[in-house]
Amino acid sequence: MESTKKNKTVKNFKLSEKLGNLRAVLIGNPNVGKTTLFNRLTGSAQYVGNWPGVTVERKEGIVRHNHEKIKIVDLPGVYSLSPFSPEEIITREYLINRNINLIINIIDATNIERNLYLTTQLLEFNIPIIIVLNMSDLLEKQGKIVDFCEFERILKIPVIPISAGKNIGIDTLVEKIFYVVKKKDFENFKFNQTIPKLSIYDNLVENKIKKIENVIDDLNKNIQNKNFILVKILEGDQIVISSLKLNYETIKKIDEIRVLNTIEIEEKIATGRYNFASEICKRIISDTGKIKKAKISRKIDRIITGKYTAIPIFLLIILTIFYVSFGPLGSLLEESVRFIIENGISNPIIKILEQFSVNKIIIGLFGAVLGGIGEVISFLPQMLLLFGLISVLEDSGYMARAAFVVDNPMRKIGLSGRAFVPLLMGFGCSVPAILSTRILESKKEKNLAIFLIPFMSCGAKMPVYLIFINAFFPDHKVLAIFLLYMLGAVFAILTSLLFKNVFSDPSATMIMELPDYKIPSLQNIFLNMWERIKDFLERAGTVIFGSTVVIWFLQSFSLSLKFVQDSSQSILASLGNFLAPIFNFCGFGNWRACIALITGMISKETIVSTMSVVYRSGEILMLKEALTSEFSVASAIAFMTFVLLYPPCTAAIAISKKEFGSGVLAFLSVSYQMILAWIVSIVVFRITLVLGHF
Ligand code: GDP
Ligand code: MG
Repeated sequence: MESTKKNKTVKNFKLSEKLGNLRAVLIGNPNVGKTTLFNRLTGSAQYVGNWPGVTVERKEGIVRHNHEKIKIVDLPGVYSLSPFSPEEIITREYLINRNINLIINIIDATNIERNLYLTTQLLEFNIPIIIVLNMSDLLEKQGKIVDFCEFERILKIPVIPISAGKNIGIDTLVEKIFYVVKKKDFENFKFNQTIPKLSIYDNLVENKIKKIENVIDDLNKNIQNKNFILVKILEGDQIVISSLKLNYETIKKIDEIRVLNTIEIEEKIATGRYNFASEICKRIISDTGKIKKAKISRKIDRIITGKYTAIPIFLLIILTIFYVSFGPLGSLLEESVRFIIENGISNPIIKILEQFSVNKIIIGLFGAVLGGIGEVISFLPQMLLLFGLISVLEDSGYMARAAFVVDNPMRKIGLSGRAFVPLLMGFGCSVPAILSTRILESKKEKNLAIFLIPFMSCGAKMPVYLIFINAFFPDHKVLAIFLLYMLGAVFAILTSLLFKNVFSDPSATMIMELPDYKIPSLQNIFLNMWERIKDFLERAGTVIFGSTVVIWFLQSFSLSLKFVQDSSQSILASLGNFLAPIFNFCGFGNWRACIALITGMISKETIVSTMSVVYRSGEILMLKEALTSEFSVASAIAFMTFVLLYPPCTAAIAISKKEFGSGVLAFLSVSYQMILAWIVSIVVFRITLVLGHF
């Protein structure tokens, strides 16, 4: 059955003693890197023209190896060998009609399944094939492994991974090209006949092919690439059929075998090819780390998102975070920073100013500013610990689970698990948290989330809590701050229940793809913390600094602009005294607390810097001591509760107005928070009084 033409080639070759008149073709889908590989193989030994009659580029060149050479043709990229596009026609004609010694089928390693559709057709030619898996450099990035050996075993032809773009594997490929070509010609190795036929099609198609083969064999025609031709005849490919110059009778016989209409047969054949391709891919492609990671993740998830374990684990994690941030480690850091600021910066500056006998008023101003800002900065380490740990949770993949775990409980209060992330961000800063409510699909749910975010104590409220907790509950720091945060959450839940009917319309059920767990990247965590430091320093340098100066001025001068020794004569005192009666019921109806709360509208840390200025005036006193002498336990708790619940800073209010898309809603939420804070702190004050007889 080997054609005489092929024997001639062998003879020709023997005469020439060189491989120069051997011809290989590069075939593959468009954009798989044929031209890149062609250039690597041929270097400058190439010439470029057009295929006759069309503008499709034609490239031919010579591949050399150990004084031997092969002619190589870069065929136009095609997905299939049906005769529709000019590229397909050229490639097909070339394969059918030219004497080709080797097909180099180039496949995009990242897209093997689609590329194999063409390969299934090339395998039907009676021509040796090498499969080249190009772009293998991209496999690692995709986390994929291709089992080349298994690939070779299934197809029974050489498979060589390369990267034409990165110039990897080209030498191996060249050696293989010459090896395969020589094997065929020198040893008269009937390459394709040693390959047991692969079954690509189903039985029905295979039977029909067999029958057509019998009909054709009867004709005693010498047909090259018979398998390919048989399939094409079955497909009803008119170009192939007419080129065979079959007589009427044969055509009739063939039509009887085909029976089904052309579309049905084409479909069956195509299905066979697709199935074959996907079957191979299943066997040779595996995900590397991804598979392992996914398995481990699923195991971890069985516990972390388990029915009974999920909530306890969630609470345990939160408690641990609080313990690390506010327990012994956090306190130690806080005290160290405070010590450094006082003894390394504030005191030396004041001393220098005193040595130069600078005006007492100016020294007072410096003392106020350094003390106010210093007080706030002392709490930076704890803030960083808290947010560092929260970003560890985010980066490790736990947060997505947490959102998943709380989806059900959150639905009970009119939100979905999706709203968990914006709410959680509220612990950092309300501004980005409010912006992030955009991920919520339902406008009502979004409004409800914006309404609730201020109840999540933002990072700036933490220093306020801490100065009071340090003064009143130094032995129960972790518990106290945890309870405060929880109190915020409780009020968020109650508020949500209260407004559920107005706002509730939670997004559809969460179908979330949980990311695999991973070791959190230090870089992400540090970036996150750095953002916080930057943000904080910016505020320290602007609003906190500015308000400290203003507060100092207002409490150092009287309405008649005279410097006052006793700050109760100051402008600030007059202002504060005007408002103080409102807070009498809450236990902190004094002008200093009032002023601190007012400045807290600029930014919550300002409460601390203001308190540092107004309570520490005169003798240099620890803020802690000042607070214990000015507040009772009950009024301290009431004050913290008020800070917890009263409206967020002006920046957050402005953003919420924008995101609500309604000034009325923003006004409502601010009023609600104000009234709620006032009422609850009265209640808390009274209850604490009754309980503790403080
Ligand atoms: P052709 O259409 O098959 O001739 O493909 P080309 O040779 O024009 O290549 C298509 C694109 O794939 C080009 O942008 C190449 O730079 C890129 N490319 C080719 N080979 C590789 C490879 O091994 N790795 C990567 N990453 N890119 C490649
Ligand atoms: Mg090309």
